[in-house]
Amino acid sequence: MIGVAVLGSTGSVGESTLDVLARHPERFRLVALAANTNAAKLARQVRDFRPAYAALADASAAAELKRLLAGEAGGTRVLAGPGALEELATLPEAQCVMAAIVGAAGLRSTLAAARAGKRLLLANKESLVMAGPLLLAAVNASGALLLPIDSEHNAIFQCLPPGLTSGVAPPGLTRILLTASGGPFRDTPSEALASVTPQAALAHPNWSMGRKISIDSATLMNKGLELIEACLLFGLTPARVQILVHPQSIVHSLVEYADGSVLAQLSAPDMRTPIAHALAWPDRIDSGVEFLDLLKTGRLDFRAPDTDKFPCLALAQAAARAGGLQPVVLNAANEVAVEAFLEGRLNFPGIAAVIETVVERSIGGAIGELEDVLAADAESRARAREQIVGMTRNASVRGAHA
Ligand code: NDP
Repeated sequence: MIGVAVLGSTGSVGESTLDVLARHPERFRLVALAANTNAAKLARQVRDFRPAYAALADASAAAELKRLLAGEAGGTRVLAGPGALEELATLPEAQCVMAAIVGAAGLRSTLAAARAGKRLLLANKESLVMAGPLLLAAVNASGALLLPIDSEHNAIFQCLPPGLTSGVAPPGLTRILLTASGGPFRDTPSEALASVTPQAALAHPNWSMGRKISIDSATLMNKGLELIEACLLFGLTPARVQILVHPQSIVHSLVEYADGSVLAQLSAPDMRTPIAHALAWPDRIDSGVEFLDLLKTGRLDFRAPDTDKFPCLALAQAAARAGGLQPVVLNAANEVAVEAFLEGRLNFPGIAAVIETVVERSIGGAIGELEDVLAADAESRARAREQIVGMTRNASVRGAHA
């Protein structure tokens, strides 16, 4: 029995993880569940799985969870506050930690699991983008096993020879071909992007995902973050990662070798495949995902991404080349801009505009300690917020003069 802690259990990846775990009660024991504010959903998950621990980062939501579970049998201990997530990431009873919190909020618990030598299932790409060198050093020092959950990186991992060290390219690998669906606006004319709504941006054609990653997919920032993630995980320069728009989302990525071979992993676009792969690796288990019917799929298309139409991808490529603190700045500005877009305070092209201004004004620098990362993150968030307020003010002044 492998003990599993699922951090971000109420989210899209978290729920897919619970779906796979429920299919294999003889193999996995769910030890801990954690989220931010969603007490009602977490209470339902506690009733279904009866883990030893449940935590909410938000203290008042944790109090609500305690109230919801009061008097019930099962003996789940409820913890509160961001520190509780780190505690759950290092529980001796959980050999495996699913890091599925969204955004920078997942950084500390992901790092804690890496330091504690866990089998770390990494969905929270933002923690790698922000603190890649620190996270990989922690993994390699503790003997943790880092298994990527992002479908593209999981596909690449499946196409690599076994026994590699995280962050080191295998001999003979020439390039990685990273696929992208292109998002909901793949075929939308550039001129129409200023008026797209958050609802339209959230409607991904192939994947069902959380709100933040759905917007990142629409701007192609998601592919930019994944480029940075791939360079870190597999020890490559950005020049050795080619991005291919592949509208069907069937080929999840490819690895090219010196002898001309190209290996790919294919499956239906359903996160339960990479999750089941990483949970059971090196074994293979049922994930509940439908098998591919390539006759029904019919064709697999590939084309180059349009970085003029989707400038977020070009901004991420530049941050990948610069390295150091630039990906931290990019990620922080993106999180703030995406939130503003979702709340109707910024239009779709405004997301890239905010990030570009914040990145241009940043002085960058190297990552020494976690504190460097946290300081750059906080400063970039403040700059992005100022920038959004400025843009809103200018727009309303222009409106008043019109
Ligand atoms: P969701 O928005 O669906 O879920 C996010 C989860 O994180 C929720 O459980 C949420 O809790 C929790 N959370 C949010 N903020 C905090 C916080 N401050 N402290 C603790 N927990 C918090 O996101 P996804 O599942 O879509 O994505 C999760 C991660 O996986 C992201 O990094 C994403 O990029 C990555 N990923 C997702 C894929 C997908 O298909 N969805 C594919 C590949 C990668 P609550 O519900 O209480 O708010």
